[in-house]
Amino acid sequence: MLSDLAPQPADALLALIKLHRDDPRADKIDLGVGVYRTGQGDTPVFSAIKAAEARLVETQDSKAYLGPEGDMGFVRGLMPYIFGADDPTRGGRIDGMQAPGGTGAVRLAVALAKKAGVGRVWMGTPSWPNHAQIYADLDIEMKPFAHATKNGRADMDALRVAVGLAERGDAMLLHGCCHNPTGIDYAPAEWDEIAALVADKGLLPLLDLAYQGLGEGMEADAFGVRRVLDAVPEAIVAYSCDKNFGLYRDRVGAAYVMVDDAALLPAVMSNGYALARANWSMPPDHGAAAVRIVLEDADLTAQWLDELGTMRARMAKVRARLAEAGRIGAIDMAALGSQHGLFSMLPLSGEQIAALRADYGIYMAGSGRINIAGLTTGNIDAFIAALRAVAG
Ligand code: PMP
Repeated sequence: MLSDLAPQPADALLALIKLHRDDPRADKIDLGVGVYRTGQGDTPVFSAIKAAEARLVETQDSKAYLGPEGDMGFVRGLMPYIFGADDPTRGGRIDGMQAPGGTGAVRLAVALAKKAGVGRVWMGTPSWPNHAQIYADLDIEMKPFAHATKNGRADMDALRVAVGLAERGDAMLLHGCCHNPTGIDYAPAEWDEIAALVADKGLLPLLDLAYQGLGEGMEADAFGVRRVLDAVPEAIVAYSCDKNFGLYRDRVGAAYVMVDDAALLPAVMSNGYALARANWSMPPDHGAAAVRIVLEDADLTAQWLDELGTMRARMAKVRARLAEAGRIGAIDMAALGSQHGLFSMLPLSGEQIAALRADYGIYMAGSGRINIAGLTTGNIDAFIAALRAVAG
């Protein structure tokens, strides 16, 4: 039976990492991989996390099982940041559970939605490729609509049409901030409209917040999620700490559920626990425990927010420098300046992307997605010159 299985394509980005690793050119540029990098090209452990880990090693006296909900100190510690310091449970209507990374949280969110009777998920595309894989694996139908217009704005018309076609009881997945892969986020007024549309139509919002703090700041990046939650009776939020605490491989995330009637929340959460039991039983502890320790300590919290601010400032600087390049052929580089987060998309053809790799050692996803944090003061001018040569 096993030998009848058809081979599956390798993950394109992982294949790109290998190609880049094997390229001997000293001035090669990696814009493929989805992690933050410093101006020196490193992805260091946050010093606030290092300090919390040291404390964890010192004080942890058992590694006995926790439970499917994971570390609830971690889960609750994040809530004021996501839902607002003023009544983060919204009158006891929101609770959460730990998940293995944002991926585990999205998986749980979609599985819970399906268990509640959702058959279709509407989503702006392009999106993080794993969204579609998770829908396919859970056998839930995806209804795509265009996320962005050709001139680099959120495509509100496409979203309005999608909501018009959707049926009560469908779900809609929305990126909370720092849209992956386009970097194109909704403006506050657009969030107001989306919240009203989704509420009027009776759609279940699945809010994916994987980059809080990497856009405009922890508060500003939560605006959309909070606006939607203000408007609707029920929603699910999938959260990742893997970018904003730099914990990628430790797999730190959480899934939050908001219900209409607080009395029904325990029953809803028990379905989340049951799904976790059948998937991973319990989430990995270490990274979430380190985040909890950071959030419990005012000095470590300040240190973490400071490190996150440094990351955000560096990405804003790179974006501003790219925006200065103006127009390069069909590419409006100025648009990159107002986009958010690690990623943006360049409208390049397959041939142009291949030429950038072959002739200039510049590696990016086949979609034209670039990781802004792969650019440094040392390579950004060479990158812009190569773009002019290939696409100008
Ligand atoms: N959602 C989005 C939009 C993402 O881009 C990612 C990862 N890059 C995730 C979820 C999952 O994050 P994690 O690495 O924590 O699984």
